[in-house]
Amino acid sequence: MEHDDRKELLEECVECKQCADCCSLLSESGQSPLEMAKRGIELYEALSCSLCGACETACPKGLSPKQLFLARRQQAVSSGEIDSAEYRYLLPDRKKNVMSAYRNYYGIDYSDINSFDNAETCFFPGCTLMTYSPELTRSIYERLKDRCGCKGVWTECCGKLLDQIGVQQRLEDLRNRLKEFIQEHNIKRIIVACPGCYYELRDVFQDCDVVVQTVYEVLDFVKQEKVEKKQYTVHDSCPDRFAGVFGNQVRHAMTECGFPLVEMVHAKTNTICCGSGGQLSHFRPDLVEELVDLRQQEVRLANADVLVGYCLSCVLKYDNYPSEIPVTHALNLLLGLKEDYKGGKDRLEKMFSGSDGEKRWEEIMAD
Ligand code: SF4
Ligand code: SF4
Repeated sequence: MEHDDRKELLEECVECKQCADCCSLLSESGQSPLEMAKRGIELYEALSCSLCGACETACPKGLSPKQLFLARRQQAVSSGEIDSAEYRYLLPDRKKNVMSAYRNYYGIDYSDINSFDNAETCFFPGCTLMTYSPELTRSIYERLKDRCGCKGVWTECCGKLLDQIGVQQRLEDLRNRLKEFIQEHNIKRIIVACPGCYYELRDVFQDCDVVVQTVYEVLDFVKQEKVEKKQYTVHDSCPDRFAGVFGNQVRHAMTECGFPLVEMVHAKTNTICCGSGGQLSHFRPDLVEELVDLRQQEVRLANADVLVGYCLSCVLKYDNYPSEIPVTHALNLLLGLKEDYKGGKDRLEKMFSGSDGEKRWEEIMAD
């Protein structure tokens, strides 16, 4: 934690515990963030935080308990208490990781559309979208090519995952590579579809002569002739809770295209995490189940027929849990592209089964 953040918390927390109302971790601790900061954060507490930021929006003093837990993760990595090498299969800046292996195994490749000759405008789909929805990725790219002169799909990682794992030096190196890339290719505009990438890249490029825009800003979505008579509800993703850029644009586009919307109890600024953040599934699957269960109850309470996400990680997370209510990506609806995300977990498991699977895993974990 930055010294000022901790100092601010120690000086200004009034122990009202409003932050605990929106957080299982804080409520299960039974202590205020002030008490926790004074006694020091346990590692298991840091790993039980999804880094969702709900506590920041709940705090009347504008404090950030989240930073306590993020800082504890970073400190655990730098002191060697957490061996980040154990998680190297996740690290998107390594040539071989689970997602690149998945793309390789299922023949997902963008080399035909990443030449970047005088690119100026490029599409940055982000790791999850380009890995688990190549159809949607290509479909968005085709439209961007036609409407905005987009000339390439930039298959890099934005770095958010590295930040959450706490590997700060790797994050810095990646950020420097991203900056070098835009200079080398004279890129002036980056279009993103993922809220995590959007806020991360805006931060990375804040001092560069490059603009980061969302697909919802630059594409026109046409009113669809046949919209199923259903009610749709939007799950807002954590990185968007503060500025609400995606939340507003998605709702606007869906309304324009004729999709009736209803709202859930936790929406926009006070949305709840889907459980993908901070690798929570790995460390606290019980908390993930709680969060998913709460979301599913809220969808029913809102009388919605379809749950709509605009971050593919959220969509895939909800899709992994049984529910009578289907979940889809906003862009699947807006582009009229039906897609069944079911079976993602099985496809991953298939990759690592049998002797070939074991070999594949060894290759990912090598070095
Ligand atoms: S970031 Fe989310 S999980 Fe972490 S302490 Fe805040 S509300 Fe709780
Ligand atoms: S909401 Fe803010 S002031 Fe209240 S206990 Fe939490 S951090 Fe402290």
